[in-house]
Amino acid sequence: MKNQILRFYSVEDLEKLPQLQTFSSMERLAMKAVAQVFPFRANNYVIENLIDWHNIPNDPIFRLTFPQPGMLAAEDLDKIIWLLENNSPKAQIQQIANSIRSRLNPHPSGQVEYNIPKLNGEPVQGIQHKYPQTVLIFPTAGQTCHSYCNFCFRWSQFIVGGDNFKFATRESGNFLEYLKQHQEVTDVLITGGDPMVMKAKLLALYIEPLLSPEFEHIQTIRIGTKTLAYWPYRFVSDEDADDILRLFERVVASGKHLAIMAHYDHWQEIETKIAQQAISRVRCTGAQIRTQAPLIRQINDTPEVWARMWQTQIKLGCVPYYMFVERDTGAKHYFEIPLIRAWEIFQAATQKVSGLARTVRGPVMSALPGKIIIDGVTEVLGEKVFVLSFIQGRNSDWCKRPFFARFDPQATWLSDLEPAFGEKAFFYSK
Ligand SMILES: *Cc1c(COP(=O)(O)O)cnc(C)c1O
Repeated sequence: MKNQILRFYSVEDLEKLPQLQTFSSMERLAMKAVAQVFPFRANNYVIENLIDWHNIPNDPIFRLTFPQPGMLAAEDLDKIIWLLENNSPKAQIQQIANSIRSRLNPHPSGQVEYNIPKLNGEPVQGIQHKYPQTVLIFPTAGQTCHSYCNFCFRWSQFIVGGDNFKFATRESGNFLEYLKQHQEVTDVLITGGDPMVMKAKLLALYIEPLLSPEFEHIQTIRIGTKTLAYWPYRFVSDEDADDILRLFERVVASGKHLAIMAHYDHWQEIETKIAQQAISRVRCTGAQIRTQAPLIRQINDTPEVWARMWQTQIKLGCVPYYMFVERDTGAKHYFEIPLIRAWEIFQAATQKVSGLARTVRGPVMSALPGKIIIDGVTEVLGEKVFVLSFIQGRNSDWCKRPFFARFDPQATWLSDLEPAFGEKAFFYSK
């Protein structure tokens, strides 16, 4: 296949993108205003192949990637529009944008390093070790994406950036040393941003050393990525696409499990020919593809969307893994869904698919104490309650112990929930 050139579009392109010419100049200005606060990036593949421009503004991928006026509170939106209309200095706009961002919980719970891993007494940057078996690594050069999702909980990290090979070598060295000292770790999860924005050579710095005998305790390498959806050419026709696949093959040949944790928000992202070709090429290396996504209002908030997405994934040999609850950050007010509705969508969607797709777990809140799943709603002793449980806990022993929260039809996150039966605290915070 012919090499496809990756082109990024940013806030400066919102005026002139031909696809946006059906919007009024006022509407484009509002998009531009939102993009002062929330980073905007889309690429040519997303724009030309994933968005149905006959279905604007309702197209889910358009809503996922292009700035939506409702993401900002009306007074904030008006303020920035006014500044733009009056050609205010960039620095002034930046200052207002920063003050708006600081009110949007840019570092949500669970993302903060409550417990920074240490190597010989020194903190190790770029890794997170929250659950005993699994270490997360955030390569510096992988802290961006091929396009930005409007709901992203890592949105604030896209505002600044930087990378270099030297730093990566030092960084991967620290992370490897840490893993040598932690024989209890079985899973390494390389995440971002999106590590697949890195060249094969750079990614190999993190992965290849793990294949040597001193890392025998590492059984699984996972790579969290949105690239299968946003730039599938990465695995098909990019200059080093074959090098990536060879790297995957070497992991599999070493006897480890390689899991590509693919982020798909909507079936539209897996129904293009190239997206399916990319999946097939990745699977041919022996890597497994597991899929996950958050539930987001106006984008994938119906059981039909999830059922069709999971069915297509199963057909293509992917394994559905998590349905997340949208995190407590950024434009949460715009994308959030009440927990009760999240559970209803999950419950209705799973019954439309066979057991092979019911490997998926959800709706899951990835929060400070751990990953908490909403098992359902029921009545106990005359009180309507949410039934919850941990599937991962800061303390492993919290897992698989059902607990109850008072039913609240408006609750959208763990922090909105109160213990049921008049208890003062949930069992894990006693
Ligand atoms: C989800 C998650 C993991 C992996 O948990 P699994 O249940 O194995 O998927 C590890 N670390 C953190 C911080 C996580 O959020």
